Amino acid sequence: METNKDDYLTMNLFRDYSLRAHNTFGIDARCREFVEYTSVEEAVQLAGQFHFTEQPLLILGGGSNLLLTQDFQGTVVHSAIQGMSVTFDGDDVYVRAGSGMEWDTVVARCVSNGWHGMENLSLIPGEVGASAVQNIGAYGTEVCEMIDKIEAVSLEDAKVIELSGESCGYGYRDSKFKHEWKNRYLITYVTYRLSRRFTPRLDYGNIRAELQRQGIGTEPTAQQLRDVIIGIRRSKLPDPKIDGNAGSFFMNPVVARSKFLELQEAHPDMPHYPVDDEHEKIPAGWLIDQCGWKGKTLGRAGVHQKQALVLVNRGGASGKDIVALCEAIRQDVLQQFGIEICPEVNVI
Ligand SMILES: Cc1cc2nc3c(=O)[nH]c(=O)nc-3n(C[C@H](O)[C@H](O)[C@H](O)COP(=O)(O)OP(=O)(O)OC[C@H]3O[C@@H](n4cnc5c(N)ncnc54)[C@H](O)[C@@H]3O)c2cc1C
Repeated sequence: METNKDDYLTMNLFRDYSLRAHNTFGIDARCREFVEYTSVEEAVQLAGQFHFTEQPLLILGGGSNLLLTQDFQGTVVHSAIQGMSVTFDGDDVYVRAGSGMEWDTVVARCVSNGWHGMENLSLIPGEVGASAVQNIGAYGTEVCEMIDKIEAVSLEDAKVIELSGESCGYGYRDSKFKHEWKNRYLITYVTYRLSRRFTPRLDYGNIRAELQRQGIGTEPTAQQLRDVIIGIRRSKLPDPKIDGNAGSFFMNPVVARSKFLELQEAHPDMPHYPVDDEHEKIPAGWLIDQCGWKGKTLGRAGVHQKQALVLVNRGGASGKDIVALCEAIRQDVLQQFGIEICPEVNVI
């Protein structure tokens, strides 16, 4: 049956809409429709009345893990659910946040209220809904450690459901939402289990060195730890508001131990991390740097001066410009090291 969505949808709906403000690369791609839900009721309405199976669907957060290479001929759905509530159980603090909230706003509020656990995840771009999809992580902490439950609306039957953190199959930057649950749920709320007790994690990156340098020592407050992490991140990573980017563009490749030993002979200084008895992980940023790409520009896209893993929009780049740079880098790494590196960002 033909339906006119405008007749019954009360939520924001835009046609032929630019996604430029909705992706941190700042790519000016358009979509056929863009619709936002601001409550569970609207998510239910959306799931019940749109025919998602009949047209392409893109569920979008802040677009900070996304590269748009063309206009999207389908519907883009975005959560605009805001608001935070909190309950206590002894030392445990359960923080329930709307999926459309900016992630770092939640971290900032939790830190200032003395609800602990998120400090090391400060300043990661993006929204609450995506935190649970991506299993965001930084400085020795992954968000899956604190996800208690996820509330969502099923796109199959428009039912409201709850998923426990344990059921989401979390792995390194991975979850079932990226595979068998892809495009199945509109996340509405995420509840994080935090603590009134502060157990700082300082043994990652140069946190300790930076605390020392600032004269804070080994017992920072939660706010001091957050501030130090924000400072470190700002000194290393480009601000997407100034230089469009999506953070780490490539995944760190995992290679067979035999391959690693062969490469190590030629490159004794090659950094590496054991994955298991048979595999080693090699930082993609190091491989790209060795190929001479750090700070280089190709057309309107480039490689960040301080971090070779980050590709940036040098101004007015299209998604295809970024892809051309990505492919040139991949070719060079393959030629020099015989290793295939793959994008971590969602390329559409
Ligand atoms: C400068 C920079 C630094 C970064 N540093 C880090 C870092 O340290 N650690 C890290 O882990 N990541 C990092 N990232 C990557 C990025 O911030 C995360 O992946 C983030 O979680 C993406 O959030 P988003 O809201 O922008 O999601 P999007 O990119 O819009 O979407 C990500 C995924 O979540 C899904 N999704 C979003 N909202 C919903 C919803 N409501 N319901 C269902 N599915 C949904 C989307 O369909 C998509 O599959 C960085 C990015 C940048 C630009």
